[in-house]
Amino acid sequence: MAEAYKIIDHVYDAVVVGAGGSGLRAVMECAQNGLKTACITKVFPTRSHTVAAQGGIAASLGNNSPDHWTWHMFDTVKGSDWLGDQDAIEYMVREAPAAVYELEHAGVPFSRNQDGTIYQRPFGGHMQNMGEGPPVQRTAAAADRTGHAMLHALYQQSLKYDADFYVEYFALDLIMENGVCKGVIALCMDDGSIHRFRAHNVVLATGGYGRTYFSATSAHTCTGDGNAMVLRAGLALQDMEFVQFHPTGIYGAGVLITEGARGEGGYLTNSEGERFMERYAPSAKDLASRDVVSRSMAMEMREGRGVGKNGDHIWLHLDHIDPKVLHERLPGITETGKIFAGVDLTRQPLPVTPTVHYNMGGIPTNYHGEVVQMKDGDPDSVVPGLFAVGEAACVSVHGANRLGSNSLIDLVVFGRATGKRIADILKPGTAHDPVVKAADEFALGRLDHFRNAKGGSPTAEIRLEMQRTMQKHCAVFRDNALLAEGQAKIAATYQKLGDVGIVDRSLIWNTDLVETLELDNLLAQAVVTMESAANRKESRGAHVNEDYPDRDDANWMKHSTATFEGWGGQGGSSTLGLRPVHDYTLTDDVEYIKPKKRVY
Ligand SMILES: Cc1cc2nc3c(=O)[nH]c(=O)nc-3n(C[C@H](O)[C@H](O)[C@H](O)COP(=O)(O)OP(=O)(O)OC[C@H]3O[C@@H](n4cnc5c(N)ncnc54)[C@H](O)[C@@H]3O)c2cc1C
Repeated sequence: MAEAYKIIDHVYDAVVVGAGGSGLRAVMECAQNGLKTACITKVFPTRSHTVAAQGGIAASLGNNSPDHWTWHMFDTVKGSDWLGDQDAIEYMVREAPAAVYELEHAGVPFSRNQDGTIYQRPFGGHMQNMGEGPPVQRTAAAADRTGHAMLHALYQQSLKYDADFYVEYFALDLIMENGVCKGVIALCMDDGSIHRFRAHNVVLATGGYGRTYFSATSAHTCTGDGNAMVLRAGLALQDMEFVQFHPTGIYGAGVLITEGARGEGGYLTNSEGERFMERYAPSAKDLASRDVVSRSMAMEMREGRGVGKNGDHIWLHLDHIDPKVLHERLPGITETGKIFAGVDLTRQPLPVTPTVHYNMGGIPTNYHGEVVQMKDGDPDSVVPGLFAVGEAACVSVHGANRLGSNSLIDLVVFGRATGKRIADILKPGTAHDPVVKAADEFALGRLDHFRNAKGGSPTAEIRLEMQRTMQKHCAVFRDNALLAEGQAKIAATYQKLGDVGIVDRSLIWNTDLVETLELDNLLAQAVVTMESAANRKESRGAHVNEDYPDRDDANWMKHSTATFEGWGGQGGSSTLGLRPVHDYTLTDDVEYIKPKKRVY
């Protein structure tokens, strides 16, 4: 190593990496149970991407229409295109109402009905009567700023407990020894000091990796750092080919217009002024699930019925809705429409296009948040000391396609479950093993390598090339030829990382270095996403390969797994595998929901 880095040691029962909704909920639960807990985050907690969530959080409260947890379960299983694990889905939907009331008591200012109960709106793919319809009102919201309200309430609550926050610390790598996770190494971005957090349990709550794509609704910080740390530890990620495109990103800007807009009565039209969703989803129409609506929009544009000079977007109409309702229920997007599209929503339609929004894939876990891997023939073998929650995790409750408003509920339900599990298996204050040197050397070797990188390719240039390739070759519609070309292109881009050059060599707030570490993380995930997509020879949920237009349950109702080798632009290949989907429920209160054709 070119330079000896000074290492500062910390010792904790539990360390949570990430302060979004899932991380903060896990921190609260650990600290509340008397565990010595730290939270490491690269941005100030309330700037985590959860802050941007607009539309709401799903739970069968039944305040605005009849509802039942089994209906929520059915919709989630169907939404997942039968790739979700039904034991985990049952756990989530049953815990959901209590989790929403808990947030209410924690101070989330939910929108209200006249009678004082929490207001709930319709959302895509959420129906009454085991999918039969009509649409159910299941999504609780604080106007269209639900994530903002949630994140602030959760942060305020976690300050109440005795957790330590390490803000603007960038986690580099896990400390792994003989297959057991023993902590995490982080860089303090402010002064360049290196921190070794030894912990009996590490929770990765690092969010999604939407920034592998050119046009994404996610924040620039959504680079899947936790996922990449797992790959570097030699462990597999799961279902990475399933990338959700949200139907209504603002054309050009990529900024999100919540599905709540269609929940409140908004609808889409093509260049002929036709409400085309009536053709694709006769029953749910504009409230079909996201993969279905995104594909329908792409079809319209492909067949020459897109709007605008280049026919490359679609209109979203809210101009028929009472301005009072818009003001009360959708104030945020009214403003967003004005700023990012120059449109007055009360009079004009908004230009929208499908935009990358959510990663269904991630770190495989069980419903306790424990990371699981295929080992010695056991597909559910737990990796001791390692947990994952939120968008970074693949529990898997969302399977091949997530329903809107099911992520926020996933965050709090599994954030809490993870904290509870840690409290169950660990005695507070348990002694730690001696320091593992090899782990520091690995993390610092990588840091030092990029800090001194003198190649001819700037980070931003390699990143742009990756984002363009993913957007073109791994989007809403895929086919064999497109994917094969994508595999070759992304492999070539990966090699370029071997020639990356950065200019700032300091350790004080070196954004050049941090962005390069993030790029290294993104690129590995881009490769495994492309490889997993090329490998899946069927169409399911968000993954559509036009050479295999049908779902193939006999061969492919399985989770795909991918590991990655050859780091730093040297090789970069992945090894693919499969894990069985859990085809059983958690309890006997509900029957396994058998696969059937998915129509809306
Ligand atoms: C615009 C938008 C609107 C959405 N609206 C909704 C909605 O209405 N309803 C719904 O259910 N879902 C919605 N979603 C999805 C949902 O908001 C996200 O999936 C969810 O908030 C992710 O939360 P998280 O806790 O997993 O991570 P995030 O909130 O993304 O937080 C990640 C955390 O990890 C930390 N971190 C990451 N890497 C490192 C590192 N290397 N070192 C240290 N810290 C690190 C970050 O600092 C941050 O604190 C929306 C998403 C977007 C993008």
